[in-house]
Amino acid sequence: MKKVFLILVLFINCIFGQSKPYVILISIDACRWDYLSRGVSPTITKLKEEGASALTFQPSFPSKTFPNHLTIISGLYPENHGIISNNFIRLTDNKKYSMGDTSSVRDNEWYTGETFWETAHRNGIITASYFWPATEVHIKYKRPDYFYEYNRNTTSKEKIEGVKKWLELPYEKRPHLISLYFDQVDTQGHNYGPDSKEVNQALTEVDTAIFDLEEMIKKTNMADSINFIILSDHGMTSVSKDRVVNIEKILDDIKCSITNTGPVVFIQTEKGKESEIYQKLKSNENHFKVYYKNEVPDYLHYSKNPNIPQIVAIADLGWELSDNRGYAHLTSSTAKLGDHGFDNHSLDMNGIFLTNGPLFKKRFCTGTIWNIDVYPLLCKIFNIQPSSDEDGKLERIGFLLNNY
Ligand SMILES: [Zn+2]
Repeated sequence: MKKVFLILVLFINCIFGQSKPYVILISIDACRWDYLSRGVSPTITKLKEEGASALTFQPSFPSKTFPNHLTIISGLYPENHGIISNNFIRLTDNKKYSMGDTSSVRDNEWYTGETFWETAHRNGIITASYFWPATEVHIKYKRPDYFYEYNRNTTSKEKIEGVKKWLELPYEKRPHLISLYFDQVDTQGHNYGPDSKEVNQALTEVDTAIFDLEEMIKKTNMADSINFIILSDHGMTSVSKDRVVNIEKILDDIKCSITNTGPVVFIQTEKGKESEIYQKLKSNENHFKVYYKNEVPDYLHYSKNPNIPQIVAIADLGWELSDNRGYAHLTSSTAKLGDHGFDNHSLDMNGIFLTNGPLFKKRFCTGTIWNIDVYPLLCKIFNIQPSSDEDGKLERIGFLLNNY
């Protein structure tokens, strides 16, 4: 009887299973919304023009890598999925989360929201990831079925070879969502600034990888059933050693701890000192804004999480904030020339979003898509129930699909 049932399941899979879509989700870190009009990315630009795309893709605040990759894959604001910054401290026990620290990145206790990997797992959709922040988490059902531990030396060729192997798996083992991540546009944007030739070269390198990926797919029998979603986690803006504010110097000898340098800094102090710090920064509010946690503007969605400290300072676009140590670094001759993390509504912080494939409209372009809405889009594509606490809304993105 069991055997008959299994044969029946296989038969149904053969007849109807092919209708379950395949999606390749590609993140090009820090690919700003306007980079694709530079004429250096013919493959991606063609996919954009022929498919359904957005003029800009708005990240969530802070416009940093880990918070936004988690937002894209969970449909939750960073204050709700728990990763409020690339690096932060848990205020109850001073334990540190850092994107560069593998043990914290793999520790499930930091992730407070459900990602699509988990939703898919619960619904029997097989997923795979050739890098996506936090896909190495130790709890099996919270990560993709197939994944690689992050290694920034992995070549594009190796990534494409990995995707090829996944697509060649027998149907019952083959992933239906595959994510891919490219870091080089971000790296060069920080090192040389968004208007540099190095950024353009990095984008061309990613474009070539996507061309090779398409060529590989054409050689399979799946070319007509694969859908691409290509996006970026945030944009990039120019920064300079002449536009740095030393927060520690302003606070002089008031006892406090300052964490992070860059567009957003966190300030913690002992009880009773908050107002002194706040007032001092408020009266020196030049090229930044200071907020008590509960007065961070609503549109930033950045006040609910218990690890957001008492006082937050946010730099104006193109400015950086620091403590004394960070100041020395940010004003040195080797300081970075590009950064992100600023107000997510700044145009320079917006990224790219484009889709192409049988599921999506052809030659269709809309205005701005929000990155919290990608998770409900994925749930709609795979016809599965989203987690109940999502911040994203299908009605703001679903119209990119043919059958919506
Ligand atoms: Zn990033």
